[in-house]
This record gives sequence, structure tokens and C-alpha cells, in this order.
Amino acid sequence: MSQQKFMRFEAKGQTLKGIVEGETVSLIEGCMLGEWKKTGELLSLAAVEKYLPPIENPSKVLGIGLNYRDHAEEGGHPIPEEPIMFFISQTALTGHKCPIIYPAVSKLVEYEVELAVVIGKTAKKVPIESALDYVFGYTISNDFSARDIQRRDKQWSRGKSFDTFKPMGPWIVTGIKPEGHDIGVIHNGEKTQKSNTSNFIFDVPKIISVISMTMALLPGDIILTGTPGGVRAIKPGDKIESYIDGIGVLENTVIAE
Ligand code: MG
Repeated sequence: MSQQKFMRFEAKGQTLKGIVEGETVSLIEGCMLGEWKKTGELLSLAAVEKYLPPIENPSKVLGIGLNYRDHAEEGGHPIPEEPIMFFISQTALTGHKCPIIYPAVSKLVEYEVELAVVIGKTAKKVPIESALDYVFGYTISNDFSARDIQRRDKQWSRGKSFDTFKPMGPWIVTGIKPEGHDIGVIHNGEKTQKSNTSNFIFDVPKIISVISMTMALLPGDIILTGTPGGVRAIKPGDKIESYIDGIGVLENTVIAE
């Protein structure tokens, strides 16, 4: 499959989708995961008024916890023997350059840059060997976490599902491999998280296979694959740049509720 960058956005008062070609977006109609065609209309990337999460209303967003050794160690957790999964509300999704709202009920919010897998076709009990055949593409996310609430709850879904806590984008890149990409965060200009997606404890084929043994993954479903070490607390006003080489940079600024 060739490499393409798919994005959703608002411009000219409309919700649009397209393929990024340099500094231009070639608009498409139809379903980016299935049948689509170019409309012939071109738009400058500079004309994008609002970046939207690249997938609208996924049937589920799943997170994988503690999937890099250094992050498990910095939190004082043992290295997991199986992928740890949790649900994230789809209302937590937001886009590139959209604000992250710091909830008033938390005293400790941290960022977690993550490679996000977008599923392209229904995956049910798939073996590791063919698991990547079910991937549409990859994007960048950041698993913002209200750590105090996460620790109090034991279950992780509430602390990780505040609205705007899962920025995603700027686009989905197809035709690339999940491993071998430098991944990190630049926090107010300082490099903090820094790793490579080859450092997963459980790689993407293993994660997809394991999830699919429990529940069918549907087209558009999103899996956040865990974060490397170096997470830091944020405060309103902070600028967080989450990068994955080969995909791009997802920028967000934190605002108070
Ligand atoms: Mg995470």
C-alpha cells in the first residue's frame, strides 16, 4: 500500500476530508477506510480552520498500559506479562492544535505520547502473523492522564477520559510500519519523552491479536499503544508537541477548565 496522509478538518464552514500532498489538501468524498474518490478540489493546508480527530465516532478507543519498560519502571510498576487494556471514551478525542482542558477536579495531569493504530477492517481472533493486514494506518495521540484520579480509581478509564484528553492527528499515515519511529514530546520547548516505537514490550501485531481474541475490532477503531518514559506534569498555558518521525507533530496547548 502506498503512503498517504488522510485528514479531517473544518474549512469554509464545512467539515471536509482529504489527502495531504505537501502543503495542499486534495479533498475526497466517500469513506476514507473504504470507497473514496478525489473531488478534484484543492485547498491550502494554511486554509484549514480547525483540525478534527482523523476518525469520527470510532466504535471504540482502547488504550494499552505500561508498554514501554522505562515508563513501567518510572511509575513503580512491574513489567506486564500480557498487554493491559482499558477503554477510553470517544468524547475524549480532539484534534491537532485544539486545546487540552485541565479539569478542575484534578491536581496532577500528565502527558503520554503514543502511536495510535487505526483499524481498517474487522479483526476477530486474528493470529499475530496476519494482524498488520487489519491496520488502516497510524496517527499520533497523547494519552493525557489525571494521575491522581487514575491512582484513586485503580480502573483507568475515568482518569484518562476527560473531554479533550485524547488529541489525535494531524493525520493518519498509511503504508508505513509501526516500529522504527522516533517518538517523543517537546514540552514548552524542552525534549522530555524520547524513545523509539521499536521499544514496545508488546508490538502492534501482538496487541491487535490479543485484543481480537476478546472482542472484534471494527473499521475505525483506535488503539493507543502505550507511552515511553519521561512523562511530566502539565499546567494551563503549557505547549505540548507530540511527535512521531514518519507521521508528524501533534501540537496542543493546555487551558484551565
Ligand atoms: Mg497511556
